[in-house]
Amino acid sequence: MEGLLRSERLPHIWCAGCGIGTVFSSVIAAIQKSGYDPDKTAVVSGIGCTARLAGYIRLDSFHTTHGRAIAFATGLKLARPEIKVLVISGDGDLLAIGGNHFIHAARRNIDITVICVNNLNYGMTGGQLAPSTPFGAKTTSSVSGCPEEPFNFCYLASACGSVYVARWTALHTRRITNSITEAMQKRGFTFVEILTPCPTSFGRRNKMGTALETLKFYHERSVILNDIDPKDAPLDFSSKIVVGKFVDTERPTFMDNYQFVCKSEIGNWPYFDGTAVPESQATR
Ligand code: SF4
Repeated sequence: MEGLLRSERLPHIWCAGCGIGTVFSSVIAAIQKSGYDPDKTAVVSGIGCTARLAGYIRLDSFHTTHGRAIAFATGLKLARPEIKVLVISGDGDLLAIGGNHFIHAARRNIDITVICVNNLNYGMTGGQLAPSTPFGAKTTSSVSGCPEEPFNFCYLASACGSVYVARWTALHTRRITNSITEAMQKRGFTFVEILTPCPTSFGRRNKMGTALETLKFYHERSVILNDIDPKDAPLDFSSKIVVGKFVDTERPTFMDNYQFVCKSEIGNWPYFDGTAVPESQATR
């Protein structure tokens, strides 16, 4: 891993037992496996425990403001389309504060890979409720239990048009690496969610025991169901944690459609038939 690790920045800030380190090593393995030139690969993050990863990876990396990682990545990709852009951040950053950017980047099919490390709460700021917090779970801002139903991130990504959607836990290290590699090799908005233990802020309050016990919990509860509709894969910790590769499809990217409408004789709307650029004309 040394080539892609800013070892001079170590020790890192993550707590003992945190799952982010596992995801970090899988990300590095995936970048190496995918064959992308590190000089043409960039990582963008927002704010939070996961977002600190941008400071430890030896690539062009950008630690942006809270919730704005996808907006920043969109600009980067449109300005420098030859760069492979990875967004790696936490659930609160990407799907709460950055939720609007997430849905519109997926709708537009911006050619970026988004990796969401889901620790079920805002870990860095002390363990507040997030849009991923399970119903009934205790956080510092829901001391009696979370009264909200959480998002199913994979269903949201799929409904908004993401061309690749997968979910794993920090236990599935080889599958995380394979999924990120596949996601990077596709064109369009690709999304990988990874459930990780946060023993300090979430696990402690919910009596989940040590990080190792959380991994055992994942091991006992996870069931791999590839190719199912993610709407049928809500995160239900009381029964089975459904993981797998749910979506792997193709559609024109934002840049394909942009070039198509700028350069083609498509006529005036509404006489234009409204279909986006045909797959056969998409830029490869
Ligand atoms: Fe990891 Fe939670 Fe500690 Fe943040 S607070 S570093 S997510 S264990």
